Amino acid sequence: MITLAKTPAAHPDLTAENAAYLPALLAECQRVGLALHLTDDPAVDLPEIKTMGGIRTVIARADEVGVALDDVKAIGRCITCNTELDDTAVVYAPANAVPGFSGCKDMTGALAKTCRPCVDASGLPLTAVQRGPEWMLRYGCTPWCVNDHTVPASADWHSTAPTETSLLASAVDSSGYSDGTDNLPWMTAQVVVSNDLPQAYGRHTSVWLGYGVHLAELTPGKAREALDSLRAFVARLEPVVDFAAQVAADDFPGDPEIARLDREAEDRHAHQQAAARTERAAGDNQ
Ligand SMILES: [Zn+2]
Ligand SMILES: [Zn+2]
Repeated sequence: MITLAKTPAAHPDLTAENAAYLPALLAECQRVGLALHLTDDPAVDLPEIKTMGGIRTVIARADEVGVALDDVKAIGRCITCNTELDDTAVVYAPANAVPGFSGCKDMTGALAKTCRPCVDASGLPLTAVQRGPEWMLRYGCTPWCVNDHTVPASADWHSTAPTETSLLASAVDSSGYSDGTDNLPWMTAQVVVSNDLPQAYGRHTSVWLGYGVHLAELTPGKAREALDSLRAFVARLEPVVDFAAQVAADDFPGDPEIARLDREAEDRHAHQQAAARTERAAGDNQ
């Protein structure tokens, strides 16, 4: 059903462009069981759902039909690929979600969801919320935990997805400790909660701060100290890097031919010394 505050012809804002979106908007409203009411009330900013005469109705500006179409289209559809969702859909969590991310909502106030094929394609671990309330109850899981507690020898603590530097440890390690750890990020951080048998042992939150192959398990207070220290260091690191770039302007690669002659002279010298030592040793033994 469509109701208009004025007749479409009298709607100065219902331009040809907006009118072109109308059939699709009506079809989408019908799909999700909502009526449509177009208005030119400037107080209506974004499309919203209200009950008008007992019927749940999308109220949208006549000059913003395209916006309303986008919003209604998102209801019950995968946020990534737009297909209609089935029972296997899970709450949407973007790859770059920061700890504490609590979901995007559609215009009905429902959490935005992703279809199962899109979740699988993303390669991201499911959060406890995505696995459902039964899972959370069974494993004492926090809503944001990404650990799969069903796999053998899995962790019994709960963790956010780690926040990582894109720079790898092996790219900035001259010590050799990072050899063979090609995919280890330079720095990582994650929130971890331990609440195994909480009546007996309590519940403890920590920040795991990773530096290459090293890991610090910090209290939130210590993590704050580390953050402050890091922030101060970053400010002092910048002039070091800037100065190095300046100094490096005078760097040059050297002449490989002269380098070869130098190495050969060095080898000759080493041989002569070795021969002299052998001669002396032979003289001492006589
Ligand atoms: Zn999808
Ligand atoms: Zn968990």
